[in-house]
Amino acid sequence: MGKAKVLTLEELRKAKAFPKEFLDCLAENKCVCGADHYITETLSMIYCSNPFCLEKMVDRQVSMLVDLGVKNMGASKCKAFLRDNGITNPYAIFAYDPAEDGVLYDGCSMKFSKAMFDQIEEKRSMTLADYIAIGNLPGIQTRATKLVQGFDDLHAFYEELETEGIMFVQNQLGIKGKRVDDVEDFFTDDIWELAGVDLDELAYEDAVSITAIQIYVTLMIYKTQLLECLDYIDIIELVTEDEDEPLPIVSICISTSVGEPFENKKDFVRYLTKEFRDCVQINYIKSVTKECDILIWSGKGAKTGKVLAAEEKISKYMRAKEEGDTQGIKEIKIMNAIDGIKYLERYKKQ
Ligand SMILES: [Zn+2]
Repeated sequence: MGKAKVLTLEELRKAKAFPKEFLDCLAENKCVCGADHYITETLSMIYCSNPFCLEKMVDRQVSMLVDLGVKNMGASKCKAFLRDNGITNPYAIFAYDPAEDGVLYDGCSMKFSKAMFDQIEEKRSMTLADYIAIGNLPGIQTRATKLVQGFDDLHAFYEELETEGIMFVQNQLGIKGKRVDDVEDFFTDDIWELAGVDLDELAYEDAVSITAIQIYVTLMIYKTQLLECLDYIDIIELVTEDEDEPLPIVSICISTSVGEPFENKKDFVRYLTKEFRDCVQINYIKSVTKECDILIWSGKGAKTGKVLAAEEKISKYMRAKEEGDTQGIKEIKIMNAIDGIKYLERYKKQ
């Protein structure tokens, strides 16, 4: 297999190509989890090579609970939960049951443990896309809706993924690739092995996208993690009248203030989920990217960065329209919550 493009810190130190003063400023050769620290080619980032590193799992679990709207469980509590129970899967919080497992972590009260369980109990129902998104897997979260479009069964999704390989990821995401040689160089040998990918059998044609490869490998590495706790989730079934026609996708970015009558973003998202889950797949995106259809903003107060970004995209669209070539440029709309809802009503079946 080809050589890895990144060095371990140990190799970097051994190479003696840099002054001691520089090397002394770097992290230890190994992460606290015991795995090697790697450094990128440009020396701009040091990272732990272990995809199941406790620190990474803690970060992901914290983000997961924030995304779910579960309160009072920050980094130190998440770390205690994962560490004391010997768990390396952030989704394990869904499998936790104080009646069977006792307290959440050493020294935690039963009252707090039960309160946490009660909060989780209320969050078990979600779409497959949401289930994948809350896992906060690198590079996947904002693409979850597109990635699993047409699926409400994770096993079926993986079956397709493993049969079709990278091309399946590209098709789902609607991205094209280009000719790349030496695909094996994208990851270290350990990562390929961990992902269980046989490079010779990998179904890729001439045109593969690097993004698709990364997503594919990530999905394979965390396959067990995603499947392990699925039984504790009520995945909302897709309602499609015609099997061949998946629900339309609308990408929405939401500003901090959404406008009345909603108190906040979460309140608004809850309403949309309840009201539109049968007729449109809403892809929640964190920033105004080129796939954004609507930016929800109350229109009150100072313009946020998101609003400015959307305005810029709108003028770009207007210019393109004048020139008569709007291909590949979306017309973004800025709307308050009520107008956003009115807009989405069009997807409701009569
Ligand atoms: Zn680590």
